[in-house]
Amino acid sequence: MTKNDTQRSQHLDPRGRKTKILATTGPATSDPEVLRQLFKAGVDAFRVNMSHGEHTIHAETIANIRALESEFRRPIAIFCDLQGPKLRVGKFKDGKAVIRHSGHFTLDRKDEPGDETRVQLPHPELFGLLEKGQRLLINDGKIRLRVIRADEDEILCSAEVGGVISDRKGVNVPDAEIPIPALTEKDRKDLAFAVEQKADWIGLSFVQRPEDLAEARRLMGDYGALCAKIEKPMAVRRLGEILEASDGIMVARGDLGVELDPEEVPPLQKHIVNVTRAAGKPVIVATQMLESMIESPTPTRAEVSDVANAVYDGADAVMLSAETAAGDWPVEAVTIMHRIARQVERDDAYLPRVRFLDTPPDPTTADALSHACMTIADTVPIAAITVFTGSGSTARRVARERPSVPMLVLTPSERTARRVALLWGAAPVMTKDIGSFEEMIGKGKRMALRHGFAEGGTKLIALAGVPFGTPGSTNLLHVVTVAGDELDKHGG
Ligand code: PGA
Ligand code: MN
Repeated sequence: MTKNDTQRSQHLDPRGRKTKILATTGPATSDPEVLRQLFKAGVDAFRVNMSHGEHTIHAETIANIRALESEFRRPIAIFCDLQGPKLRVGKFKDGKAVIRHSGHFTLDRKDEPGDETRVQLPHPELFGLLEKGQRLLINDGKIRLRVIRADEDEILCSAEVGGVISDRKGVNVPDAEIPIPALTEKDRKDLAFAVEQKADWIGLSFVQRPEDLAEARRLMGDYGALCAKIEKPMAVRRLGEILEASDGIMVARGDLGVELDPEEVPPLQKHIVNVTRAAGKPVIVATQMLESMIESPTPTRAEVSDVANAVYDGADAVMLSAETAAGDWPVEAVTIMHRIARQVERDDAYLPRVRFLDTPPDPTTADALSHACMTIADTVPIAAITVFTGSGSTARRVARERPSVPMLVLTPSERTARRVALLWGAAPVMTKDIGSFEEMIGKGKRMALRHGFAEGGTKLIALAGVPFGTPGSTNLLHVVTVAGDELDKHGG
């Protein structure tokens, strides 16, 4: 494809980028107008973080997102993120205390306010489990304790790094597999809420084993998709099985970088992105991407590079956390993220870099045709690929090939349309059921024109399965030229 052709198709693609933006909601987005600005600036999917806030507030946020979806007639994914078994210390007499460097500190089972020598650890599972030499990391790893002696009642530690500890600070225990279920009582209530709200994606935090996903799956019913957050060393060890049991993966660098040494995270990020991409499932790179923008209207150079590198890795989505949930510059953060992704994707070296990952087709007709879509779009000027799908599975197989042009996902299923909003290169559009081949081709052309992905004289690839509406039947690839008067033909 010539450079001109590349530029033309980018010009026609309304968002001008294939990497998706997932933005977390919170106090900073409680005003529907801010949410609207975030969407307009480039958000494709919103994360509702169940670790904070009340159900009534989350329900309002979700209603505001759905209102945007109707206003702009563009499907949006809602990602409800369950807190999971996040361990926390109890409370302190003065709200906080100072743990002395190289001093001793005890975690115990006494339901009494703590001080500089001890605090309650309200997780009975940890007593009798932790062993001498294991680490306890408090407040995102800022305080590092090492177990000297542990029994059924007390865990005596030496403070390798001390500091200020305050009420209900988080505790990471990277050296032990903790026999607690991945879903706490709170998670169960939050999950029921998310299901009732028709969350398109459910995020499961601190997954340790594939079985952790089974329970969530059982409670979820069949609407939402399940994303495992990789933030425990145990999850890294069992990544293959966890990937198999999930619909998507998040590289949750915040907790991962506490549970592991921080320098272990970048190679792992690349590894997790690669294996998830190879499986044809969406992968999100998360946390601290534009952290300084919580307070500043401009990012650091290192943050810009970090976002750019995740895009060069071929991640499906990049995520914003406190930057949009509680920061002073939420719209600016989304705007800069959008600009970075678009700029990287315009680099001639982008696709060759993204395709360094070998994703050989499975021996299926769907994969053979998905692969063909990619090579055709590399060979002749194509404006977009239109994929007709019920479940979204064909769209995922095409996205896995990382084609050079955008993919219009035409589906009668609202669930599929919203779900693929997180998928690399996918632009979902809701349509009625398709009855015939002619109807499909006509609809594909009109939708591509109407949504700005094609113009008169450009070519499209249509990918579908006949008989229509039969899952797993992808067997038809057609290259068509759009006529200038296409929109007049069937009344749009
Ligand atoms: P969190 O997950 O924001 O829910 O902690 C992401 C991470 O740990 O990186
Ligand atoms: Mn986390």
